[in-house]
Amino acid sequence: MKIICIGRNYREHAKELNNAVPEKPVFFMKPDTALLQKNNPFFYPDFSKNVQYETEIVLKINRNGRHIEEQFAHKYFDEIGIGIDFTARDLQAEQKKKGLPWEIAKAFDQSAPVGKFLPKSQFADLNNIKFSLKINGEIRQQGNTEDMMFSFDRIISYVSQFVSLKPGDLIFTGTPAGVGPIQINDHFEVFIGEEKLLEFNVK
Ligand code: MG
Repeated sequence: MKIICIGRNYREHAKELNNAVPEKPVFFMKPDTALLQKNNPFFYPDFSKNVQYETEIVLKINRNGRHIEEQFAHKYFDEIGIGIDFTARDLQAEQKKKGLPWEIAKAFDQSAPVGKFLPKSQFADLNNIKFSLKINGEIRQQGNTEDMMFSFDRIISYVSQFVSLKPGDLIFTGTPAGVGPIQINDHFEVFIGEEKLLEFNVK
């Protein structure tokens, strides 16, 4: 499986990092070794001094597809979950300055914690999904998919023009504003609506 991540899909987040708002989706990938599941702890990597959380709605692809038309994209996922796109912001800033790829800042081991998935049928409106992150019991980030610039269908259609999708692939759909640094001993709780789907500690 592979993990595809959309960047700059929420206008306010693009602005907080001084990035231009894109006309087309921006995506990058993480390898399967980035996946962190079963509420296992995240170990703060020693190559960064500024690891930041990005809370994101995650789609699970359920069938093979390439060159998917937007009108059919909804058939390619039937589960929705939540995850954290951990980012070594200091390394990313250096790479961006030099115009180099982001992998060392984005694709490292355990950089993609993912929680329990819910059936898509449980959601009345995919363009109105609230999600949030608590760290040590305090709300640190909140979002709603109504603020996405590119819909789930648009993302699937766009990505599949370049990369074939397979069952089990995950798509991180971008983070809203409010990203920030993490500390060792932080306790993460991640929610869709009121439902806690992911929980882990930073060690
Ligand atoms: Mg992200």
